[in-house]
Amino acid sequence: MSSAPITQAWPIAPRIQSLIDGISPALRAGGTDLPIVNPTTEAPISVLREADAQEVDAAVMSARRAFDTGPWPRLDINARKDILYAIRDRVRAHAEELAWLECTGAGLPLARVREQVQRTARVFEFFAEVASTLHGEVYSQSKGWLTWVTREPKGVAALISPWNAPLSLASMRMATCIPWGNTCVLKPSEVTPLSVRRLVEILHEAGLPPGVVNLVNGRGSVTGTALVDHAGIDLVGFTGGTATGRAIMTAAARRLVPAALELGGKSANIVCASADIERALDGALVGIFANNGQQCLAGSRILVQRPVAAEFIERFVERARRIRVGDPLAPATEIGPLAFEAHRDRVLSYAAIARADGARLLTGGRRAAIERGWFVEPTAVLAPSNETRVCQEEIFGPFAAFLEFDTVDEAIAIANRSKFGLVSYVWSEDIGTALRCSRDIRAGTVWINTPMMRELRAPFGGYKESGVGRDGPAASVDFFTEQKATIVPLDPPPVHRFGA
Ligand code: NAD
Repeated sequence: MSSAPITQAWPIAPRIQSLIDGISPALRAGGTDLPIVNPTTEAPISVLREADAQEVDAAVMSARRAFDTGPWPRLDINARKDILYAIRDRVRAHAEELAWLECTGAGLPLARVREQVQRTARVFEFFAEVASTLHGEVYSQSKGWLTWVTREPKGVAALISPWNAPLSLASMRMATCIPWGNTCVLKPSEVTPLSVRRLVEILHEAGLPPGVVNLVNGRGSVTGTALVDHAGIDLVGFTGGTATGRAIMTAAARRLVPAALELGGKSANIVCASADIERALDGALVGIFANNGQQCLAGSRILVQRPVAAEFIERFVERARRIRVGDPLAPATEIGPLAFEAHRDRVLSYAAIARADGARLLTGGRRAAIERGWFVEPTAVLAPSNETRVCQEEIFGPFAAFLEFDTVDEAIAIANRSKFGLVSYVWSEDIGTALRCSRDIRAGTVWINTPMMRELRAPFGGYKESGVGRDGPAASVDFFTEQKATIVPLDPPPVHRFGA
């Protein structure tokens, strides 16, 4: 991955709009414009035209037409795959532009964003492959009968995504949905709309037929609810916070449509005395500070075994103080600004919450000494118990909470005493310990001796309040396709003749 700076700036439209049937809808008088602000400079950079219920209706109707009568679900799989590959190629060709937009709009560091853009390209390729190898089932055991089971696309999906990794999370939602022939309406976060709007344009430039992906922009309370409540929606795919997930599932239940939810986390990062401590230290720092600390899979509760705890925590703090915080477009930057002002304030409020709960502030807990921008110093606290708020609530920023433990059983119990269960990290060179943690921790993913590694072939999703359903080839096929059984007699049996 290049570590070169980005020397070019790309134009940002003065008003970011929805994209329906492949074009921006006509502006209606009296619509709402929301400010779009650069989190690094605090300067307004554009406005977002919010889609109201009428515009959401137009988007759903477009997706409906594309599904009910359009070419996409009826295309030969090779033709569909060619378009998905063309999307991959066009994302790569525009990688620097997308990265620049993501840094500018979301404040994520350039090195990280460049990886996420490459993954954005990869997920379209990956799920195109999965769709092209999809096959049905045949049953011939019942004498004289043949039954076969085929998969069909499910229909029009509402896809809703958050602001913490706008491109990679919106692209995961779309790439797991459309390859089977579904169409969708995507509502990204109203806070970080720039990169996703450009991505949806790129999808169309690559040959995606109009109406397959429609984009609506706006707040959850306006655009999001209008979308999820719309009668033309057949299913809902959501990535975001747990409280919103609950509201979305309730709305989906009212209409009796399925919902898949990727939600929050408060994941345990267990460092055993038997760990390769250097690697565990690097991994713990990545686990909490990558992506500006704004990641669902953050290792935000760092559990360290007592014999190594004092030195480990001291070294962690020393490293945290040296992290390069600054302009996300500078290639050397490790942590950029948080995505928006209210979120910065919320993250900082946890310093006082920690103190009130008897936790010791080890470093950070305040704004970084940078004149402008929503920067926070990398923060770490030592918590007196797992029951404190900093150990139970998702802070979603560069904020680590340390806990100490004696036995591995105790660490597993602490890891599991959480309403969340998204991921977990375990550091130990003792194979029995590592495998026991993997077996007993209730989380959708366990990483052993590594920070985050996203294997697209494996399911990803949460236990408990971290989600319902999984992303991944098998899980996405199950969620985004219907199964149809067709039954035919080969030796037609006599049919009872009622009334004969
Ligand atoms: P959020 O729940 O506030 O918003 C997510 C999206 O939902 C946004 O587009 C928002 O506009 C929309 N929304 C809000 N209320 C809605 C409603 N009533 N109806 C329809 N849509 C609505 O989440 P966020 O603050 O944008 O993102 C951070 C959260 O996302 C964190 O909790 C994080 O852990 C979670 N997350 C989870 C994963 C995962 O894969 N499990 C990945 C990334 C982020």
